[in-house]
Amino acid sequence: MTDSLLEREAEPADTAAIDSLPTEGIDPQRLPLPEATQPLQIMWRYVFVLAAVHVVALLALVPWLFTWSGLVLGIAGHFVFGMLGITIGYHRLLTHRGFTCPKWLEHTLAMLGMCNLQDSPARWVAIHRMHHQHSDHQPDPHSPLASFLWGHVGWVVCRHKDLDRTSHYERYVRDLLRDRFYLKLERKDGWFFVFVGHALLIVLAGAAFGYFTQGEPLRYAASWAVWAVAVRTVFVLHGTWSVNSLSHVFGYRNYETRDHSTNNWLVALISHGEGWHNNHHAQPRSAAHGHRWWEFDMSWWIIRGLEMVGLAKDVVRPKSAKATD
Ligand SMILES: [Zn+2]
Ligand SMILES: [Zn+2]
Repeated sequence: MTDSLLEREAEPADTAAIDSLPTEGIDPQRLPLPEATQPLQIMWRYVFVLAAVHVVALLALVPWLFTWSGLVLGIAGHFVFGMLGITIGYHRLLTHRGFTCPKWLEHTLAMLGMCNLQDSPARWVAIHRMHHQHSDHQPDPHSPLASFLWGHVGWVVCRHKDLDRTSHYERYVRDLLRDRFYLKLERKDGWFFVFVGHALLIVLAGAAFGYFTQGEPLRYAASWAVWAVAVRTVFVLHGTWSVNSLSHVFGYRNYETRDHSTNNWLVALISHGEGWHNNHHAQPRSAAHGHRWWEFDMSWWIIRGLEMVGLAKDVVRPKSAKATD
């Protein structure tokens, strides 16, 4: 696949489509829910799985289930799965092609992304490209201008007629689906089994660690399930969801974009730089989301590191004078 082809595929989700947004006839404070979600229909399997992971995460309040190793792994997982998988993998690489890298690395980052219970790479990317194309206008799938709760999590659990089959959203992700790796993951919820598989591996590793170090395999298996899987997954989920909700409502703006995107330091902190979301909407392809010197963007430094060792190429930098370099 040539770079020029990738450019063309990414373009509808970026500047060209944004320029064609309607400027009249919409009261941005009272955006209706996307038409394709009407009548509202709850997707119970999403509700069940997300509720389950939240309930398991709440077991962190039980002192018996606390272990330092579980906590450390949970924090490490926030970086390994959340930052490398979602922020750098799903978002900056697969959605916006902010850089290129060897296929083995791209697939590895996508695998890490699947361990966060945030859907398959293709569906995640399709929803996000649709968001950029129509941000805070119809049919943005998750604008908080419809309601804050809708923008945060409501959209995740309600059926969207244009997004419930691969054939419906395939036009947004043709570049991805040409790769059999991503195509296969669309079938029979393959991505979900990657999540389940990684969770089982962590629990088994916890049992082995507990057995050999403390003679307590059960407690360590349960502790790692709670801290290294559930708490971390919930934290990463709300970090990503906060980009869609908080970073379209609260914060400051460096750029006059046609949406309500904001730069929000709290979201930037918990989502490895994604909270500089107004910068991102202004220049979606830039691999750096922090455009001013104080807008710390951890993911950007990782991408720069990958570039320095020759693993990331064609890294897209911010265009404006506000850029850090
Ligand atoms: Zn946005
Ligand atoms: Zn984006």
